Amino acid sequence: MLNKKTLEDVEVRGKRVLVRCDFNVPLDADGNITDENRIVGAMPTINYLVENGAKVILCSHMGKPKGEPVPSMSLAPVAKRLSEKLGKEVVFAADNEVVGENAKAAVAAMAEGDVVLLENTRYRKEETKNVAEFSAELASLADVFVNDAFGTAHRAHCSNVGVAEHLPAVGGYLINKEIEFLGNAVNNPVRPLVAVLGGSKVSSKISVIENLLKKVDKLIIGGGMAYTFKAAMGQKTGNSLLETDYIEYAKKMLEEAGDKIVLPIDTVVADDFNNDANTQIVEGDIPEGWEGLDIGPKSIELFKSVLADAKTVVWNGPMGVFEMSNFAKGTNEIAAMLAELDAVTVIGGGDSVAAVNQAGLGDKMSHISTGGGASLEFLEGKELPGIVALLDR
Ligand code: AMP
Repeated sequence: MLNKKTLEDVEVRGKRVLVRCDFNVPLDADGNITDENRIVGAMPTINYLVENGAKVILCSHMGKPKGEPVPSMSLAPVAKRLSEKLGKEVVFAADNEVVGENAKAAVAAMAEGDVVLLENTRYRKEETKNVAEFSAELASLADVFVNDAFGTAHRAHCSNVGVAEHLPAVGGYLINKEIEFLGNAVNNPVRPLVAVLGGSKVSSKISVIENLLKKVDKLIIGGGMAYTFKAAMGQKTGNSLLETDYIEYAKKMLEEAGDKIVLPIDTVVADDFNNDANTQIVEGDIPEGWEGLDIGPKSIELFKSVLADAKTVVWNGPMGVFEMSNFAKGTNEIAAMLAELDAVTVIGGGDSVAAVNQAGLGDKMSHISTGGGASLEFLEGKELPGIVALLDR
């Protein structure tokens, strides 16, 4: 995965460079961008191309318009924000068919360093089916393709995979950073490597558990998925999340992994799934009528002691129901520990990213993945089609 060409490996001056970005930003009812992190994340690649005299043609999806034009999912607000950030006009090609007369005319008129943004690629129903015709239309606008959208790298769509069949395809800075951090953390880590897995279900993370067990020195398991492991050890789990179909699987994992797997030793239990519920801390069995919603203080200390030695940490999934303040302590304490740790810390997408940001510790981590599903598939050891499609070095 680390042997892919990057935008610095190709000549871009004077070339029409199509860049697949992830501009899937949240908008409020008036079309204002409420979180511009993804635009900020795309700027290094855009700036490099502008500074090096490329004709920069940007494209992205936004939301799920399901193959037809939906005005509330237009990328027009992104063009406006990008213009402000770049300090120069980003021409918005407002074609409902994405590659239409506006796009063609705008590209034909481009000078070196100019920037054009195409309309939401998912206005076209072909996009998510990777239909050759739309891929060829996108490719016809450009000479070189740069993929910088990690969030969709686990999908084979026209704008990231199909188009790469027609043009020399390389990675942008953002996607390269993801490959470098996630790839090194899992496949070439500074050891000890400790993975922290949490979240609701064992079933959704089986492949991650299996792949990581082959690579890590320790695997810490918290969150709702820990109770299926507790049940596998013969403990009672009360009303906690439990996947009975996976108890046997958890038993097998525990047998095979031995002391590689580290589980919580105490639990914050509640008598209702509610922030104001009555709570207590229990070790061992969880009593009838109570459910585990966070790891307890002894587990926090245990997990911290395992993390203290780590030189690389990969974290995916919260330790409890962190969305409720009374059950966020385990997650917050792990986030705070990672923020202080002298180690490479990689936060693998989804809810753990939300938790780290909620704790205000985002900038203290080595890398925060921009792709929830993509980072999970990466941790599963799967090849991501959007990365496979790039030219090898
Ligand atoms: P996932 O998408 O599988 O990473 O799961 C994230 C979700 O797991 C978050 O919404 C958490 O609230 C939830 N979660 C974590 N711990 C628990 C728990 N002990 N009981 C119920 N839900 C949990």
